[in-house]
Order: sequence, then structure tokens, then C-alpha cells
Amino acid sequence: MRDSIRKAARQHGFAAAYFLAPLPLPLWRERASLSRTQCGMDWDVPAAYPGATCVVLLVEAYLPYRRADDNRPRADAPEDRILPYYIAEHRAYFEAKALAAEIAAQGFYCETARLPARALALENGVGAHSNNGLLAVGEFGTRAALFTLATNACGPLPEAGEHPACEEGCGACARACPAGAISAAELDATKCLRYYMDGAAHPPFVLEKLTSFLGCDLCQRVCPKNAHLKAQPLPEEIRAAFDPRRLILGDTAKARALSGRNVTGGGKLTLEAIALAARDGLHESEIRAALASPHPAVRDAAKWALEKYF
Ligand code: SF4
Ligand code: SF4
Repeated sequence: MRDSIRKAARQHGFAAAYFLAPLPLPLWRERASLSRTQCGMDWDVPAAYPGATCVVLLVEAYLPYRRADDNRPRADAPEDRILPYYIAEHRAYFEAKALAAEIAAQGFYCETARLPARALALENGVGAHSNNGLLAVGEFGTRAALFTLATNACGPLPEAGEHPACEEGCGACARACPAGAISAAELDATKCLRYYMDGAAHPPFVLEKLTSFLGCDLCQRVCPKNAHLKAQPLPEEIRAAFDPRRLILGDTAKARALSGRNVTGGGKLTLEAIALAARDGLHESEIRAALASPHPAVRDAAKWALEKYF
């Protein structure tokens, strides 16, 4: 059955599938409670999924976007500000659900599982911890969105693959992080910009330091574990959907459809576009118009931008 799941996973666009033992993760729980990053995930995997003999880890690998104009100042180009992670993750979410339904249709128990995939993978010897807090998986580096299925269709398979560890003394991610969230050995999740970007409203220090829409990947861009990944051109459809002027004017439907409506409510993309544009001194009149937005977080960001930059 594992071969058949691997094959089906590839057909759904996943780059790899690993077969993990459903283990409890008490250490992860302790750390997650301290940093308040539990986010409703099930740490006691066997208790939460008693019917599971295996957790299938699905790897959605993605590539960074290649900059069209390398002479532009860093972080000015749309290729730096639109993160392929969110688009890949949104696509794969539906594919993981469809794959679970296919396995269940063959008479097995199978459901998508909300559990700490990185911690469970490491506990099973899959992937390597990275100082930026991410899991490096084989040839995909840290550029992978992870999904998990709880199932009784098969058992776990011990993993013998090679996963890249951090080079001693590297520290590139710590030097690149605009929030000072990474120390020599690990990430302090409570300092990462992404920690404050779940809801629509972003605190002023995030508006000031934000590097991209919906999150930040500076620590991945500089990471040698990803240096071999070949950048892809930014598709025109995505470039147009995330055009900052368009987003500031409130036309966010296409960008939300690409990155997921559930993570982009409350005018989030509009206020992020306001912050990025204001810092470049662009789109003042559109930002003034955003003072009349129906979303309080957008009005607050427009006020912040006008006071600080215009
Ligand atoms: S995502 Fe950005 S803010 Fe968070 S740790 Fe990485 S570089 Fe720092
Ligand atoms: S940049 Fe260096 S220290 Fe940071 S995660 Fe990558 S390899 Fe590890």
C-alpha cells in the first residue's frame, strides 16, 4: 500500500511522501505552550488519531521566484515580495484532502491531520532541524510545505535518507533576519515577524519591517540548504494579482483566491501593500483613499503610513 500511496501522492503534485510512526510529542508541546505556537495542533498524536497506524507526511516542494531585474534594490522587486510558499501551500491543501478521500474510498481510515508535522518528522528521523526553525527535507531544502494524513492503510517506514544539517558557524539566517529572531542555534518564534501576521491587524513594528506579503522568507533566501534550488519565473497572473496599487485600492479577490481566503481576511493584503508602498514613497493618493476602507486594520495602516511617510 505504501507504493500505491507514494504514486497517488505524486499524481496529486507532492514531491515526496514519508511514512511516520504516530508518536506523542510532549517536548514540542512544552515549547509550543511557552511560545504560544500550539495553534490548535494535536501534540498527543496517538490519542488524537487512535485509528492511525501511520502518519503520511506529504512534501509540497516549491521554488523561489527569479527576479526579472537584478539591478533593482533588494526587496523592491515583486519577486521578493510575493512568496511562492503561500500559493503552493494553498494548492496542496486541497490535494491532500483529495488524496485522503481517495485512500478512504478504498475502505481504509484516512483523514488530514492537524499536528506538528516538523516535530513528528524529526522524531521519526525524517528531515533535519534548521536554525531558522524550519525542517530541511532531502533535496528540497527548507522550501517545502508539509501536510499530514492519519491512516491505517499502512505502517511506518524507518527513514534512511540524507537530510542537510546546518553548517557549523553558518549564521546566515541570523544575520539576514530583520527581527533578530534567530540566535546562533535556534529561532525565537515570538520574535519572528510571521508570529504577528496571522490576523489582519499588524503592529507598527511589523508594518515597518515586513518584507513580503503574508510572511517573510529572508532566512530561507540566504540559507545554503536552498542554494541549489533553481528559481522559477514569477507567473504573470500572480504578478498582476499582487500588484500593490491594485491591492491598496481593495481589489484583492485574485490574490486571495491564489493564496487562500481563510488567511487573507480583514483587508490583510491591502494593509500589507500599504506598508510596502509607503516605505517606497509610492501610491500616496491610493493610501489616502484607504482611510475610508471598511476594514479597521486597513484604516489604521493607512493612518500609520501617511503620518510616517508622506
Ligand atoms: S521569517 Fe523573517 S522574521 Fe521570521 S525568522 Fe525568518 S527572517 Fe526572521
Ligand atoms: S542559514 Fe545557515 S544556520 Fe541558518 S538554517 Fe540555513 S544552514 Fe542553518
